[in-house]
Amino acid sequence: MSVIPFDLRDGYIWLDGKLVDWKDAKLHVLSHGLHYGSSVFEGERAYGGQIFKSTEHSERFLHSAEILGFDIPYTVAELNAAKDLVVTKNGFKNCYVRPVAWRGSEMMAISAQNATIHVAIATWDWPSMFDTAQKMKGIRIDIADYRRPDPITAPVHAKAAGLYMICTISKHRAEKKGYADAMMLDWQGRVAECTGANIFFVKDGALHTPIADCFLNGITRQTIIALAKEHGIAVHERRIMPEELAGFQECFICGTGAEVTPVSEVGSYTFTPGAVSRTMLDAYTAAVTPKAMAAE
Ligand code: PMP
Repeated sequence: MSVIPFDLRDGYIWLDGKLVDWKDAKLHVLSHGLHYGSSVFEGERAYGGQIFKSTEHSERFLHSAEILGFDIPYTVAELNAAKDLVVTKNGFKNCYVRPVAWRGSEMMAISAQNATIHVAIATWDWPSMFDTAQKMKGIRIDIADYRRPDPITAPVHAKAAGLYMICTISKHRAEKKGYADAMMLDWQGRVAECTGANIFFVKDGALHTPIADCFLNGITRQTIIALAKEHGIAVHERRIMPEELAGFQECFICGTGAEVTPVSEVGSYTFTPGAVSRTMLDAYTAAVTPKAMAAE
């Protein structure tokens, strides 16, 4: 793990329309986004220099901002081009890409209708974990105390900074207990997702995953569902109660960062990462790998 803090690295960051030196990509302490959580972001990965599902991420970025009531002053095409520029300029091939937008400093109160919307795009080296054998051992995850909020209490479909407050608290608590992550239930006590990834279970060769109506319908989740269908694996999007975990044979989480990560334990429930998780892990790896890279 790198020890260089993120604000002290070298390279370039795209800030409000132009590339600036990494260390100059600053904002003031009096920024609405910092105090009031008026910030949305994306998390993407490039493989072999190509950002996976770049357009889908840019569209979600604009949509998240719209839900929070602010307009990002760039089109999907402009954002895609800016992301590619940042990746190329920093010389990365396999990296994470982080667009973020926030309300600026013109107004520092609950209402900030006229605050400028700022946009930055950063990237950092983060190769995917290709050690499949290691991955197939599975990670251990806890069950979080906090629940995903009811859609009438929070903008649950926005990838908004504020929604991550309970995720960070939950992940920290899980890590303190020796777990890798935490699975969160929804406001009605049904299985929802992890702190930064969606969750799938396997029963008799079919996938079961919660309906994404009060949490992020991840781009990876949607990719997995499409790939499963291509592989003739049935997918059941349905309500899943935590007690049902006893009846599942396999479990994996998925997300841009997590990719496909098999799970061996969720609280007191145990799973054995097996053939279906392996199929999905391999299918996802193949899907994200650019054709030129796969041929190497
Ligand atoms: N849920 C949460 C809370 C997340 O932070 C993420 C990661 N963005 C996901 C699900 C998975 O989304 P995606 O597959 O689009 O990365």
